[in-house]
Order: sequence, then C-alpha cells, then structure tokens
Amino acid sequence: MPYNSEFRRQRILVTGGAGFLGSHLIDRLLDRGDEVLCVDNLFTGDKSNLDHLAGHPRFEFMRQDICFPLYVEVDQIYNLACPASPIHYQFDPVQTTKVSVIGAINMLGLAKRVKARIMQASTSEIYGDPSVHPQPESYWGNVNTIGPRACYDEGKRCAETLFFDYHRQHNLDIKVVRIFNTYGPRMHPNDGRVVSNFIIQALQGQPITIYGDGQQSRSFCYVDDLVEGFLRMMDTGSDFPGPVNLGNPNEFTIKELAEEVLELTGSKSQLVNKPLPQDDPRQRQPDISLAREKLGWEPKTQLRAGLTKTIAYFDELLRKNDADVTA
Ligand code: NAD
Ligand code: UDP
Ligand code: UDP
Repeated sequence: MPYNSEFRRQRILVTGGAGFLGSHLIDRLLDRGDEVLCVDNLFTGDKSNLDHLAGHPRFEFMRQDICFPLYVEVDQIYNLACPASPIHYQFDPVQTTKVSVIGAINMLGLAKRVKARIMQASTSEIYGDPSVHPQPESYWGNVNTIGPRACYDEGKRCAETLFFDYHRQHNLDIKVVRIFNTYGPRMHPNDGRVVSNFIIQALQGQPITIYGDGQQSRSFCYVDDLVEGFLRMMDTGSDFPGPVNLGNPNEFTIKELAEEVLELTGSKSQLVNKPLPQDDPRQRQPDISLAREKLGWEPKTQLRAGLTKTIAYFDELLRKNDADVTA
C-alpha cells in the first residue's frame, strides 16, 4: 500500500508485548487489521507467547529494554513493559522502579516526538493496602513507601504522575488504566501468582498453598475482558485521559478460589496454610462505575468459565515434556 494512500493502517507499539497481557493485546490488534511493533527485553516475557505470529506480515518484534531511548515511528503506544508479579518485580527492585520511571519517560518522549496517543498499564497496586473499599479512582491509596512492594507500587505511581505531567505540560494525548488482578492462558507458570499456583498445584496433586488464613480477597478479571477494556479506553476522546479502573468487581476470598480450582480440576490436593507475605493487601475490589459510564465496559466472563480455559492451558503446558513448571 503506498504511504500516501488515503487509508493508512494504524502502526501500534506494544511494550512488554511478549508477556501475558501484551501478547493477548497484540492478537486483538492484529485481528482487527493493525500493524504491531512489539518491544520487549524478554525479562519476564517469553517469545513462545508470540510463536504463533512468526512470519505474520503485520507483526514485528524488537528485543530492547525500554530504559534505553527508542526511536521508531508509530501512531499509538501501549506501555505494558514491567515485571508484574511480586516474585518477578522483587527479584531486582531497582530495575523495577527504573522500568516504570525511566521507561515511562522514554515512551512519553517518543509519544511527544511522533504525536502518538499513549496508554499506561497502571495497577490496582497504586491503592496499596486500601482503607476504602471498593476502590474508586478518586481514592489516593495507602502504600508503604519503604516496603518490599514499593518498588512496583511507587514506580507505577510515579509513572502515572509523569503521564499526567506530560499531558498538562506538553499536551500529550494520554490514557491511564489501573488494572486489577487478571488471569488467563499465558500467565507465567512460575511467577507465584495465586491463580497459576493453585491450578498447577491442583493439576500436579501438590498441596494448595494458602498464604495466611485465606480470608483475604481479590477480584479476578479474565484476560479477554481486560483487553476489550484496553481497546475501548484507547478509543475514547482525548478529553478523557483517565485514570480508569479495569477489573472484575466479583470478589472472592483466596480460600474460595482454592475450592473452585479443586472442584474444576477434580483434584484431591490438600489445602495447606503458609505465612502471609509482608504488606499483602487484605482486600481488593475495583469500583468500575467510571469504566461502565465512559467505556460502556464491564467484564463478561464468570470466574468458572475463565478458570476452565486457564486450567486447559496449564494442563496442556504441563503435558509438554520440556515444560519446567513448579508452583
Ligand atoms: P508480564 O511479566 O507477563 O509482561 C511484562 C512484559 O514486560 C514481559 O514480556 C517482560 O519481558 C517485559 N519487560 C519487563 N521489563 C522490560 C523492560 N525494561 N524493557 C522491555 N520489556 C520489559 O506481565 P503482565 O501480567 O502481562 O503485565 C503487563 C503490564 O500490566 C505490566 O505493566 C503490569 O504492571 C500491568 N498489570 C498487570 C496485572 C495483571 O494482573 N497481570 C495487574 C496490574 C497491572
Ligand atoms: N526519547 C525516545 N524516543 C524518542 C524521543 C525521546 O526514547 O523518539 C526519550 C529520550 O531519551 C528522552 C526522553 O524520551 O530522554 C524524554 O524525552 P523528552 O523530549 O520529553 O525530554 P528531553 O529529551 O527534552 O529530555
Ligand atoms: N496467595 C496465596 N497462595 C499462593 C499465591 C498467592 O494464598 O500460592 C495469595 C497472596 O498472599 C495474595 C493473593 O493470593 O493474598 C493474591 O496474590 P497474587 O500474587 O496473585 O496477587 P497480588 O497479591 O499482587 O494481588
């Protein structure tokens, strides 16, 4: 297609595209006809998440750390690059803050130069251990600045600040989504997340590790629902930068999740209690009124349906001989 054709495909940069959420987002963007450039340093991502796209004419992969400047020409940017699970982001906490802050500055500088709309994958962790429940976007959060989760929480908070300052100072077209716990196929088998841990433990007949008394709660969003929320947010007018919560408001205790996984896998695994990690939030549930109003969005997938698909994914992964999977 000639470059000056009236119709020009959107060229979209997805940072962190080899990861769990990014790879699903890329699938959706390619399905609707966009061109996608994925930039990822493969710290926690895996190229196998993109294997099915090998040779795709509208897809390109670039291995790079976004803490270094990036000069490419794109129309939109989804900034997802950042380790997301506590095990991964606490492995090298300084690097975690760097990718959130320096990475964001580079992507914002890029967006400013090419006049691209840019979305930040923020997180419910910016609310810390919340004293308001459920959490609306207007809640400012309760984060321990010197705790083991702070490298992630404060990095993401600072990234939000940078996004809004580039918006105010340079008139940048920004979008900020605050993502709550999301699960689905292509979650990392070894990253210690509760959904992947419980499913793998159940499938392997290992004890299900409940940290603390299992009465802490989370609300789990299926990945396809979340990606739909990303796309809708990206398509809103420039007068709505966010932030907007994206997550599933159906709240479950960790014990209830364990029981659901046991039932769906038919596993005989025992439940065992382990110590609760430091600063582990007691409750987390999104208030998604704003997403409903501005995006006409709400999750459609029930926990059982989403877990069934995720269990099928891990079941297949575990059957592959070379899978190095321990929860
Ligand atoms: P993930 O670890 O699967 O994906 C993150 C990707 O970023 C990986 O492919 C990793 O290799 C890449 N990456 C990390 N550091 C990088 C760097 N310096 N340069 C380039 N690439 C780098 O995690 P995910 O669950 O897909 O999360 C994606 C984004 O969504 C993250 O920003 C995360 O903070 C956010 N988020 C996720 C959840 C969730 O429940 N999964 C919840 C809240 C927020
Ligand atoms: N940057 C980049 N790609 C670009 C433009 C900028 O990676 O296409 C980086 C660049 O390294 C810079 C950062 O983005 O440090 C912030 O850019 P900005 O223009 O906001 O700031 P300045 O260059 O004036 O410090
Ligand atoms: N959790 C658990 N057993 C596990 C892994 C996690 O009980 O094997 C708990 C964890 O302490 C937390 C909740 O499940 O209360 C969600 O943990 P995850 O790491 O998935 O997400 P986050 O804490 O970031 O919300």
